[in-house]
Amino acid sequence: MKPEQAAPARRPRSLTLLGASGSIGASTLDVVARHPERYSVFALTAHRSADALLELCRRHRPRYAVLSGLAPDEAPRARFAREAPATELLFGAQALEGVATDAGCDVVMAAIVGAAGLPSTIAAARAGKRVLLANKEALVMAGPLFMRAAREARAVLLPIDSEHNAVFQCLPNGGGQGAGSAAVRRIVLTASGGPFRGAPPERLAAVTPEEACAHPNWVMGRKISVDSATMMNKGLEVIEARWLFDAPPERIEVLIHPQSIVHSLVEYVDGSVIAQMSNPDMRVPIAHALGFPERIDSGARPLDLGAIGSLSFERPDSRRFPCLELAYAALRQGGAAPAMLNAANEAAVEAFLARRLAFTRIPQVISATLERCAPASADTLDGVLEADRRARAAALDSIARFAHRAA
Ligand code: NAD
Ligand code: MG
Repeated sequence: MKPEQAAPARRPRSLTLLGASGSIGASTLDVVARHPERYSVFALTAHRSADALLELCRRHRPRYAVLSGLAPDEAPRARFAREAPATELLFGAQALEGVATDAGCDVVMAAIVGAAGLPSTIAAARAGKRVLLANKEALVMAGPLFMRAAREARAVLLPIDSEHNAVFQCLPNGGGQGAGSAAVRRIVLTASGGPFRGAPPERLAAVTPEEACAHPNWVMGRKISVDSATMMNKGLEVIEARWLFDAPPERIEVLIHPQSIVHSLVEYVDGSVIAQMSNPDMRVPIAHALGFPERIDSGARPLDLGAIGSLSFERPDSRRFPCLELAYAALRQGGAAPAMLNAANEAAVEAFLARRLAFTRIPQVISATLERCAPASADTLDGVLEADRRARAAALDSIARFAHRAA
């Protein structure tokens, strides 16, 4: 027997974290800080929150920091030079693509919220990076374009959304083979049902942003929290699963599971159903993707099924959650319809959070927008962004009309 050899020292992978100041950003940095031998931080980005970004730079000492929503400004530049001298501060949205494609970065965590994340996320895929995908809106808007770019550049895509990460883990060969495999019958995405799952329907018109953002199981950014309350989040996730796993819509189902312990399931032709479970903690899928194909510590509490006792499941109520059906319809329509659905949803959610639109008007704004906007193709990034702009303008118009009427 050969004497035991020490494993060869590996250079830590360098990570660009787009959306570092958000909820996924915080969970990612928590996991990364547990594994300094595996990861170094190359770049951190935030939209406008200079204070939060500076604090993160002090702690994680990236090579670059980006404030994407600000024009070049001497005041933050001077503060960063003084308090985080290891980091160079950049400004503007263009810098996001720079740090996502830089030769010095190996892995990109795409955790910007909304359509704003699409250009930098697709740029990372085109540059052949290992892309950890939290920004589901990018795939919803430009699924076929995004997947083709990743294939052509041999970018490795690893899902962060807990459901898609679960599906990835349950697919044949640990995700190596998509749902296109003849052995897979169905993908079942679980959904908690959000804070209004059991609320009387007549109460929904008057719910507040605070109530909508108080998710029973997950602490998340405000936009995805509202999406969870309307179940548009699950609609976006059906579209995301369609492209990530090459699964036709009729083979993707949604099941309500209020405890958020089973994160999704894959059913095989022999009747076997494989599920992935954990406590609801985004550090689990994040650690899975950061470590893949190895397993690394996430910091999450171990799952104690004995203490939880029982898990329950029910079918979604499409009258209570019309957004889910709107998403399936946009997916079946194809082209730029999912991009328009996403744009209308973003505009409606923003208006709801600003108390300018009733909660129950959100699906109405989306369906009015899709009816008004002519179909468009989604073959190019410019085409997708143009469809997004048109749908946003149409949605703002509907919001203005609805805002003056009672829900
Ligand atoms: P968040 O609101 O907490 O953070 C969003 C981040 O994006 C922040 O760093 C913010 O500065 C940045 N940002 C906002 N607007 C921007 C813009 N116009 N340009 C550039 N950067 C901008 O959001 P989050 O909850 O962390 O979610 C991030 C993404 O991950 C979303 O796409 C969401 O759907 C997805 N996701 C989140 C969770 C979760 O548990 N939070 C779970 C699954 C998927
Ligand atoms: Mg999810």
